[in-house]
Amino acid sequence: MILRYIGFMDEVEEVKSKIDIVDLIGGYLTLKKAGVNYKALCPFHSEKTPSFMVSPERQSFKCFGCSKGGDVYTFIEEIEGMEFYDALKLLAGRAGVELKPRRSIHYGEKEYQPSEKTKLFEINNLAARLYHKILTDHPKTQHARKYLVNRGLKKESIVNFQLGYAPRSWDLLLRFLKNKGYIEKEISRAGLLVLGEKGRYYDRFRGRIMFPINNIAGQVIAFTGRTLEDDLPAGRQVQTPAKYINSAESPIYTKGKTIYALDRARIEIRAQGFSVMVEGNMDVIACHQAGFRNVVAVSGTALTPDQLKILARYSPDTIFAFDSDSAGKAALKRAITLAVQSDLNAKVITLPGFKDPDEAIKSDPKNWQQGIKTAKPALEYWIDCLVLEQGITDVGEKKKISKEILPVIKIISNDLEKEHYLKYLAKKLAISESAVTAQLSKAKVTQEREVSAQAKVGLDYEQRVAGLVWQEKKLIDKIPTAFFGLNFQDQAVRALFEKVKHNQELKKLPAEIKSKLDLYALEAMRDLDLDEEGMIEREFEYLVRDFFERKKERTKAEFAEKIAEAETAGDRDKIKELMSQFQSAIIDGEK
Ligand SMILES: [Zn+2]
Repeated sequence: MILRYIGFMDEVEEVKSKIDIVDLIGGYLTLKKAGVNYKALCPFHSEKTPSFMVSPERQSFKCFGCSKGGDVYTFIEEIEGMEFYDALKLLAGRAGVELKPRRSIHYGEKEYQPSEKTKLFEINNLAARLYHKILTDHPKTQHARKYLVNRGLKKESIVNFQLGYAPRSWDLLLRFLKNKGYIEKEISRAGLLVLGEKGRYYDRFRGRIMFPINNIAGQVIAFTGRTLEDDLPAGRQVQTPAKYINSAESPIYTKGKTIYALDRARIEIRAQGFSVMVEGNMDVIACHQAGFRNVVAVSGTALTPDQLKILARYSPDTIFAFDSDSAGKAALKRAITLAVQSDLNAKVITLPGFKDPDEAIKSDPKNWQQGIKTAKPALEYWIDCLVLEQGITDVGEKKKISKEILPVIKIISNDLEKEHYLKYLAKKLAISESAVTAQLSKAKVTQEREVSAQAKVGLDYEQRVAGLVWQEKKLIDKIPTAFFGLNFQDQAVRALFEKVKHNQELKKLPAEIKSKLDLYALEAMRDLDLDEEGMIEREFEYLVRDFFERKKERTKAEFAEKIAEAETAGDRDKIKELMSQFQSAIIDGEK
């Protein structure tokens, strides 16, 4: 333990004296006062009653369930999965203590090399500083500054959120970081490069406004880059180039577990007792700028259960303020379903007449306050929308509505709440409550799978492949024949490949299948750099290859198990037979 400190003794103590452990851990967990101590649900093991204690007096923590414990450094090492030096750097940054820069440190005989994660943090941090400097200082980026000012951003917001600009250069960042002593492999691992066709790396972000994404401790872990051209049509039709792209995932960046601006919003979420979730980075900045600082955004992915779990640490109450276009509505339904599953109290803001929060606030911040005040419980909102969209004049419409909403009501765990929504739905449909309740029990069998499919995180391989084919029809010729023999889980994917297999017109697919495929295409292309010729095709090939690789792995594992069984049984013929089956299965899979 002590050995690790050599070379940093003073700084380690200084940082420790400046950080309050209650404050630090309170940023990650909901702490409840328990006498002179605080307690919480342990983040390191799964439990229902809190056995994780924090002592302000001793500045230490201890879990009586899994017996993890220690000081501020141990906590950060454990929760962020960092090594000591990284934890020290993180906390020093927070405490405002400067660590003498050193690339390697000697202690005893050994030389200390910074861990991979440390390097990835350094790389992202340097990139953020470079992009920010270019945006704020460079004479050639006036158009970018002007764009942000026109969007209503104040200078201090640009500084606070460390916005930047990545110029249209193939290797500006690459050269900059190489000069700082990092190698291509490291920069690529940090998610900031793209591998070109000729095997050369180049900058992932070019000609884009840069939004650094921070972890909860405020360190830059990734970026969202937005095209500057604002002449893209409204809505979110798939366009070239992609309006937003994100860093690739890395050891320090998992999209599904990252929430944009949570590092800035978490204190205010606690203070106000609820969070607000919007869709875009710009919306977040507009809200914070107007003084609404409990606002965060999903970025780089559709909302995931993990993100909601993280958000719930700060408050179980959240309000969704998504865009009013059709993609926003689809995202909202998904978010509500997840919130119901996660037992979160979700509400929905409506901002009538505005396409997103940014626009509403720019028009008048009071719109926002009003929206928050009148936010509806999420499921009531959903039911109201359906009634409005479908109408309830005939029985078919009523059936349609209950078919969509009952599976969601079904997953509510609180009986009181469940009954509330059943009553609400019955009233809205002018149907007896007993009929709705009876229908609820049937909803399970037919629809539960559909709901859980909707709630699934991210996209599966098959959905991604389908999305790309849907987007780029010429890929149809490249689909390996082996693909058609597969049993696809997803209904839309199945429908698409069925049509493709029989050479039928894709236009004739049902509208709801088409809109699903639209979403898959959008999601599958989210991170692709569409400036680059043939990018969709490369992604497609990569996915197909990977898909079969994984399939092969699974087949191998299955056969290995069977063969082991046959060996135990001493059944030589069986072994022989399995071996030959195995061979042909692998070869088939490669076709
Ligand atoms: Zn524990």
